Amino acid sequence: MSAGPRGEGVDPGPGLEPLDLEAIRAQFPILQRSIEGEPLIYLDTAASAQKPDAVIEAIRTYYRREHANVHRGVHHLSALATSRYEEARRIAQRFLNAPQAHEIVFVRGTSEAINLVASSWGQRLEPGDEIVLSTLEHHSNIVPWQLLAQRSGAVIRVIPVHDDGSIDLEAYGSLLSPRAKMVALVHVSNALGTVLPIRRMAAMAREVGARVLVDGAQATVHGPVDVAELGCDFYAFSGHKVYGPTGIGILWGRGELLEQMPPYQGGGEMIAHVSFGGSTYAAPPARFEAGTPHIAGAVGLGVALDWLADLGRDRVAASEARVLAHGTRLLSQISGLRLVGTAADKAGVLSFVVDGVHPQDLATLLDEQGIAVRTGHHCAEPAMERFGLTGTVRASLGVYTTEAELDVLAEGIERAVRILR
Ligand SMILES: *Cc1c(COP(=O)(O)O)cnc(C)c1O
Repeated sequence: MSAGPRGEGVDPGPGLEPLDLEAIRAQFPILQRSIEGEPLIYLDTAASAQKPDAVIEAIRTYYRREHANVHRGVHHLSALATSRYEEARRIAQRFLNAPQAHEIVFVRGTSEAINLVASSWGQRLEPGDEIVLSTLEHHSNIVPWQLLAQRSGAVIRVIPVHDDGSIDLEAYGSLLSPRAKMVALVHVSNALGTVLPIRRMAAMAREVGARVLVDGAQATVHGPVDVAELGCDFYAFSGHKVYGPTGIGILWGRGELLEQMPPYQGGGEMIAHVSFGGSTYAAPPARFEAGTPHIAGAVGLGVALDWLADLGRDRVAASEARVLAHGTRLLSQISGLRLVGTAADKAGVLSFVVDGVHPQDLATLLDEQGIAVRTGHHCAEPAMERFGLTGTVRASLGVYTTEAELDVLAEGIERAVRILR
């Protein structure tokens, strides 16, 4: 089992000092609460991560002491809010190892980032151009491209996956052609946990002249991400999945591409000059940030990214890989339980079905034991369909997830299955 989304056989190694999970857990107020009298076991981080005190406090301080609108005023608070907002941009730049801060665009989340690229960059597509997606994509990385295909006459091609949930690279190679203009790939599948070999797949895309967008909604939380090393053109992620606030996320795009892209939305902040004869637009990132942004969200996100970086993202990846391996062993021993997604390179997710038991019923009984898991198609219906399923039960891990919690999960599953069968 590899240890994080950087993937491609990069193992941060056993030499890393382990994380103190109890000290980390103590920083998450919500983990101290109980559900129906049972201690909360939160195994739904892939849907949204919980927030550490540092993030909660930063947002509170921002609103109590620092708030004003950004980029507009000469007064003290406006300058302070602007510097906090722009500092968050530089933090996100460092977090992704992006070459330039102005390549970082604040958006609402992964979904908006992908919609922005599909709407704006997508205007250059022509009938017959191809958009290549994998079977594992989240609906957020499917539907914006379908909308673009409808508008432009472009065609969507889909990369198949093997039975273990890994990408069929040979099939990918044979469906790539010079007609491919965009390859849009999830970095880590939220439904199965598969880590895609992005560096290799991006290099293959470049050979035919296609651009590469990476949906990093799951990858950023589980380990180091380096856009320079990956060789992609766009990288998107959501704040709320990396211990930050909801309603804020990041689109990184190569400077020269963003420079050529038309605006996505119009409004204040994104213009150079406006007249009724026509308007001119600001340079990126302002061109793509119409209106008053989610300033508090950006501040909170910056703190979350620094918080995660301070833990050591290699250590986070190694720690989660250990907990995931433990969970995989435990669940594999439960009779009638089938793990869906068993790729060698995997992160953060245990997706499974149990013979004769409906996922929804199982999740309901787990909830009564204080265990929060998710069921359903996980916004990845084509991936479910590939495995002949309508849904799975998914336990997803965060940096605060312990082996002991997965012991309770395994016991909880066995107890629930005894009741349900
Ligand atoms: C959550 C998720 C998204 C969508 O993120 P939003 O924050 O809802 O915009 C996209 N892709 C993957 C892989 C996800 O896990």
